[in-house]
Amino acid sequence: MYSARLSHGPVALAFTDRHGGVSRAPFDSLNLAWAGDDADALAENHRLLSEDFAPGDPVAVLSQVHGNDVAYVGPEGPRSDIHGRLHAVADGVVTDQPGVTLMVRGADCAMVLFADAEAGVIGGCHAGRPGVVVGVVPATVARMRELGARDITAWLGPHVCGRCYEVPREMQDEVAAVVPAARATTSWGTPAVDIGAGIRSQLADEGVACVDLSVCTRESPDLYSYRRDRLTSGRQAGVIRMASA
Ligand SMILES: [Zn+2]
Repeated sequence: MYSARLSHGPVALAFTDRHGGVSRAPFDSLNLAWAGDDADALAENHRLLSEDFAPGDPVAVLSQVHGNDVAYVGPEGPRSDIHGRLHAVADGVVTDQPGVTLMVRGADCAMVLFADAEAGVIGGCHAGRPGVVVGVVPATVARMRELGARDITAWLGPHVCGRCYEVPREMQDEVAAVVPAARATTSWGTPAVDIGAGIRSQLADEGVACVDLSVCTRESPDLYSYRRDRLTSGRQAGVIRMASA
C-alpha cells in the first residue's frame, strides 16, 4: 500500500504505491485517481487507504490543475463533495487542524508533504514540471508560514526522475530559466527535466529541510507512471495528518 510511511512527532505521513486496492488491470490495484477507472473501485480504494492510514479522518482532496493556488482547510472546510470529502481546486493544501487527512496525487508529477509539528501546521502539494515553473512549492511554504509555521520539514515523494523525463529543448530551457537546477539529461543523452532537483532547489531557497523519499515512477513497476502507461496509468497519493495535541 505504501512506498514510504513514517511519523514525525504527532504528524503521520505516507506515499502510496499501486498495491493493496481493488482496481482491475490495467489500473491494478490501489488507483487513487478521480476518474477514468471503475467508480466503485476508486471509492473503495480511497476507503481502504483512509481506513488504514487514519480511520475516521475527513480527507481533503484536490482537483489539481498544475497551478500554484494553495487551499486552506480550516474548521469549516472547504466543504464538501458528494462523497463527503473536503474538496478544493488547487495544487497545494495546508491546515492547522488536527484530525484531517490532506491528500495530493500524482503519476509522474512529484508529491511533496510538509510539516512544522511544533507550530501544528501541515501541508502538501502536487508539483510537476508546470508546478515547478509556477512555484507551487514555495507558495505552499508561504501559506504555511502565514499560519505560523517556522521550522518546516518537507518530504519529497515518488516522481519521474531526471534520467527518464525527456522534453523538447525549448521546454527544458523554459524550466531552467526559472529553476536552473532542473536542467538534466536522459540516460539516452537527450534534454530532460529533473523535477526533484528543481523542487530540492526551491526548498533550499526557502530554508526548508528536505527528506528525499523519491523513487522513479517510470522505472518502478510498483508505482503508476503516466509517461510509461499513458491513459492506462492510475494515480498514487501522498497523505499527511496531525494528531490532536
Ligand atoms: Zn527514472
